[in-house]
Amino acid sequence: MTLSIISTNKVSEPWVDALRAVDSSVDIQVWPHETNKQDVEFALCWNHPHGLLQEYPNLKCISSMGAGIDHFLSDYLLPKQVPLVRIVDANLAQSMFEYICSAVMYFTRNFDRFNLQQKQSYWLPHLANSNKETRIGIMGLGMLGSYSAEKLSEMGFKVSGWSSSAKSIPGVISFAGNEQLDKFVSQTDILLCLLPLTNQTRGILNLELFNKLPKGACVINVARGEHLNESDLITALDNFQLKGACLDVFKVEPLPKNHPFWQHEKIVVTPHCSSITDPVSVAPQIVENYHRMLKGEPLLNQVDLTRGY
Ligand code: NAP
Repeated sequence: MTLSIISTNKVSEPWVDALRAVDSSVDIQVWPHETNKQDVEFALCWNHPHGLLQEYPNLKCISSMGAGIDHFLSDYLLPKQVPLVRIVDANLAQSMFEYICSAVMYFTRNFDRFNLQQKQSYWLPHLANSNKETRIGIMGLGMLGSYSAEKLSEMGFKVSGWSSSAKSIPGVISFAGNEQLDKFVSQTDILLCLLPLTNQTRGILNLELFNKLPKGACVINVARGEHLNESDLITALDNFQLKGACLDVFKVEPLPKNHPFWQHEKIVVTPHCSSITDPVSVAPQIVENYHRMLKGEPLLNQVDLTRGY
């Protein structure tokens, strides 16, 4: 019975150490050096090579090393009969909230304008937009979105959220479903994307949507690069429909050196680091799922593959 760590771009050592610190009895191995693929029952993955998971005949659980699972959905050879679980972690939610808070304040406290003024040695104070007059709209009210929504509301912002089903979060106005998307967008000054990447949400941040925001709105994307139509964003910024954008995720990562986002004065680029999974923080829930799998008990944080998140 083996737990195998399978990733093309994460360093395995901190994960091995964190898992062993929780339970030293688990046989942990690292792809591609497993002694026998037949022994692997639990695969802990991030950006695994597509098709690879077919090679493990006795898999009983596949776990993401993070909150997102879109890296599995793009693998058409994923063994769909094996339960898929993901990470749900309070530290991840707090870290995401802190990033979002910084990005929101960057715009409300006019740091975008001060950056431009500094390049011209130009001294001109601007009044801050107060929290209570700033309307923040969060697309996606799941583990990350609902936490940030509540915290931003506690800070005095006017917060609304949009999700598949209606939510009841203290201080947060809930909009649900495609029929309420336009109403949600029309009353949003700072639009934040925390949706999962699915066939329904791919490309949702596009010119049609930007044109429904109040003129001068800002966009923050911390979900996935493929939510955003990149050329539409540049159009909306250049024609002053949008005031600015803060982006942590991109269609191609690392963002290519010649990408226009790097030089665009209304765009802040951060290198996919708004909330990074800490192996030490999440190892207990991975080990817990490993033991649940062995005992045939219900798994924590199982993903519904039919809806894609
Ligand atoms: P989650 O718990 O699965 O929540 C997803 C939310 O989106 C739910 O509220 C869901 O509505 C809503 N939703 C899904 N499809 C929708 C649709 N078609 N229309 C309207 N609402 C829809 O996700 P999470 O854990 O909060 O994570 C969100 C995303 O953040 C991840 O998928 C990942 O891409 C991204 N992420 C990024 C980083 C980073 O470092 N940049 C780190 C972690 C995660 P219901 O609640 O009604 O189902």
